[in-house]
Amino acid sequence: MTTRDINTKKFKKNAFRYSKVRGETASRVRCPGGEIDVESLQRVVDIAKKYGQGTVNITNRQGFEIPGISLDDIDAVNHALQTIIENRGVNQEEYNGGYPASGTRNVVACPGKKLCPFGCYDTKAFAQEIDKAIFPNDHHVKIAFTGCSNDCAHVRLNDFGIMGQTEPQYNRDRCVGCEQCVKYCKKRSVGALSVVNGKIVRDTNKCIGCGVCINYCPTRAWTRSKEEYFRVVLLGRTGKKNPRLAEDFLKWADHDSIKKMIVNVYAYLDEYLDKAAVESKEHIGYIVDRTGFEEFLKYIMKGVELGPKCEMQGRLYWGGKRYDQTNELKKSMFRFSEREE
Ligand code: SF4
Ligand code: SF4
Ligand code: SF4
Repeated sequence: MTTRDINTKKFKKNAFRYSKVRGETASRVRCPGGEIDVESLQRVVDIAKKYGQGTVNITNRQGFEIPGISLDDIDAVNHALQTIIENRGVNQEEYNGGYPASGTRNVVACPGKKLCPFGCYDTKAFAQEIDKAIFPNDHHVKIAFTGCSNDCAHVRLNDFGIMGQTEPQYNRDRCVGCEQCVKYCKKRSVGALSVVNGKIVRDTNKCIGCGVCINYCPTRAWTRSKEEYFRVVLLGRTGKKNPRLAEDFLKWADHDSIKKMIVNVYAYLDEYLDKAAVESKEHIGYIVDRTGFEEFLKYIMKGVELGPKCEMQGRLYWGGKRYDQTNELKKSMFRFSEREE
């Protein structure tokens, strides 16, 4: 059997991937937040042994891909995936029918506060909550969560990148003046702390809410704010035309506003996606270039009420690499052999 013989629409919707090897495919398994229960993990192993070639690829977006599956076994693999899909609580149209969509990408998360001492929030729980809210959906959206401004999850390469922030709380009575916090804020972060009359002063304009001072204070004079805050960066991407890093949009945003914004983006895509674009995978950033950022904002901010502490970037500018502007690139490049001695 070839991909031409099978229902390619269903094949793609079920999150199977085309393979270079004739007659074969790979099954993609979602792991929102990069987490999977051991029962599901065992099922991935079982499928790879029985229907694949005994290997599993870990994808760049923290999912699994089981290569070497015969096209004839797609229905059997869908059946075998049922436990994994059910364990994730995915809404399915068809029992034993496999994944109901492939478009929206696996939601990525760094270890976050459950594991990492620098984590400002539970990244995996937030990633899984968002996955439940947006999946199944065919639109190609990339979302990633990272626990602090260190950005181990590389969220700036995503359409929505969420970074944890905390507002450090200072208790002068507990402070012994060792200046560890000042030293580490300078060394590991942005240098927002100084000593004034024996007291530690935080420059609130400079502070990025990374929490480094809290981690290095030996007396717990610095503690995390009860509220969790987030920096939201928008429309980063890789790609062959214009790869670029996501730009800051919100600082000190709240959980509920972020969830609404992400859910809202699907209505914008329903309205403006170029249906004729190859496999309808037109990147949101290119759509925003067509419609204008204001129109994008109108959609994603619908019903969103940002908290009093939240700061919004008025204008966003994405630069990045322009592979499609070769003349400009050529002017500044030369062959190694052309170097002057
Ligand atoms: S981004 Fe922060 S919380 Fe996440 S793993 Fe890196 S240091 Fe830890
Ligand atoms: S949260 Fe980060 S940036 Fe702010 S004062 Fe502490 S170490 Fe410095
Ligand atoms: S690290 Fe803690 S105890 Fe030391 S100066 Fe800073 S706040 Fe005070």
